[in-house]
Parts: sequence; C-alpha cells; structure tokens
Amino acid sequence: MNQTDDHAQYGASSIPAGDLWFGEYYAPDVRFALQCQPLARESSPYQQIDFYQNATFGTFFTLNGFVQVTARDEFIYHDMIVHPAMAVNPDIRRVLIIGGGDGGTAREVSRYPGVEKIDMVEIDEAVIRLCRRYLPQTAAVFDQEPRLHLTVGNGVDFVAQAADGAYDLLLVDSTDPVGPGEGLFTTAFYRDCYRILSDRGIMINQQEGAFYPQDRWEMQRAHKKVDAVFPVSLLYGFNMPTYASGYWYFGFASKGLHPLDDLQAGAWRSLGLQTKYYNEDIHRASFALPNYVRDVLRPE
Ligand code: SAM
Repeated sequence: MNQTDDHAQYGASSIPAGDLWFGEYYAPDVRFALQCQPLARESSPYQQIDFYQNATFGTFFTLNGFVQVTARDEFIYHDMIVHPAMAVNPDIRRVLIIGGGDGGTAREVSRYPGVEKIDMVEIDEAVIRLCRRYLPQTAAVFDQEPRLHLTVGNGVDFVAQAADGAYDLLLVDSTDPVGPGEGLFTTAFYRDCYRILSDRGIMINQQEGAFYPQDRWEMQRAHKKVDAVFPVSLLYGFNMPTYASGYWYFGFASKGLHPLDDLQAGAWRSLGLQTKYYNEDIHRASFALPNYVRDVLRPE
C-alpha cells in the first residue's frame, strides 16, 4: 500500500454505511471513535456497561460511554498505577485497591512476591463479572491469586471503616468523579486514606488529564484536595492512546517518601520483573511536567 492509499484508509475517509462506531466526546466538537462489534451491554445500579471488540485495540469496555480498558493499551495504565510506588517502597506488604474491577491493577500487584495481602473493593459486581467473561487478560487474577480478597462495596465506606495504618499502598483505580466515583475525589476520602496508611505508605490515584477543559478542571480540583492532606503530593504522566488527548496522570501522595529522591531502582531491578512500559527512566521522566500542566497545579 502506498502512502496515498494509506492516507485514504486511515485519514479523512468516510464511514461505510452499516459500520458501527463507538464514539467518545472529548469536547463538544471533538470525538474519538473506534469501529466496533458489540459484545455485551448491561445497566447496573451504578452505571451503563458496554463491551465491544475493535480490530486494533481488541476487546474494550466503557462505563457510561467512557473508555475504561482496552486489551491493547491496558498494560500502560496498569504498569504505571502499580510499579512506580513499588519501586519507591520495596517493603510494601499490604495493598488496598479501590475500584479496578477489570483486575489489571490486581494482576500487576500480584507479581510482587513480597506482597502479603491484596484487598480490593469494587462497587459494581457487574464490572467484575463481565471482565471475567470478556477480559480474562486482566480479570483472570480474580480466580488465580490467593492473596487477593475481593469485597463488593463502596470504597468510601471501606476506607472509613479500615484501621489506622492498615495499608502500605492504596491504589485508587477509579472512574471519573461523576456517579459512583464521585466520593473517591473528596477531602474526607483522602483524609481516611492518609489515616489508614502506614508511615511509609503511598497513595496512587487516577487524576485525570490536563488537555481538555473538563479533565483539567477535575485534575485541578483533585490535586488541591490531595495536596491539602498529604505532605508529599505530585503528579506523573503516561501515554495512554485511548484516553482523552492520549496522555493521562496519576497522583503520587505519601506521608514522606518522595518518588524521585527515595526511588530504590536497584532493589526494583533485582526483582527481575518484565514490564512493557515501565522502567527506571520512565519512572524519572514521568514526573517531569509540561509548563501548562504545572500551571494547572499551581496554587492560586
Ligand atoms: N482504568 C480505568 C479508567 O481510569 O478509566 C478505571 C478502571 S476501573 C474499571 C474503575 C472502577 O471503579 C469501575 O469498575 C467502577 O465500578 C469502580 N468504582 C467507581 N466508584 C467506586 C467506589 N465508590 N467504590 C469502589 N469502586 C468504585
């Protein structure tokens, strides 16, 4: 295929009649679209869940019309939510995952032999059930990992009831701050997270994107709250092809550990984990923020 044909196929070509496309609006006049075959659709008490198949991205699912996980690029998100914290504190033993019903985060945590306990609280059993059926790539961990204790419930309540210092790592693998995910972006929730972390504890939370106005506003709001509760609070970014603008962020918050000054690169390397996205250089680079993102986070 020559360049012109390639452009005709992947560029501004028209959509053949009868083709089904999933589309997600990033702004009122900007839409990301994936050609798809529908696999399953379910309305749970919490959200609308849709599973589809796309030739390039494989099986993917959406919650309330927002892409959550695709088989092709989930490794990036799940590498980046788990490994940076584990490389800063290799003594992490007790982990709590909040949300994460697809299982990808639990899968990555389960690769650490030193982790003794993985608690997970997901509000929607339908997400877990459908991922078990359609996304075993991430969800197989639910049936294979004896250290994993799964609770179906609200993460906000779970954290409020947990004992002081009960966890070394909290991974808030949440949806956006609307619907069931809203409570996971509140100051009261972050205070509980602080309380239930050990002294060398770390919290990683999904903190949106910085490019489109709605995402930027949510990032700013979340960061302000986390920053008011935790002495160390930084953002790090990663390339995520199916999230708005292709670039997304996690928050790194702790009671004292710094993601760069306290990085235990040698200890992490000695575990011999094979990762497709994460490495020591990515770790360092991901905390470097463009100026427009620094501006979003700057206190007024
Ligand atoms: N990687 C995804 C992303 O950022 O788009 C998120 C993955 S995961 C599917 C998010 C999960 O958080 C969903 O399954 C949702 O049901 C769950 N969730 C939302 N609010 C929750 C809450 N309050 N407590 C526990 N789980 C919650």
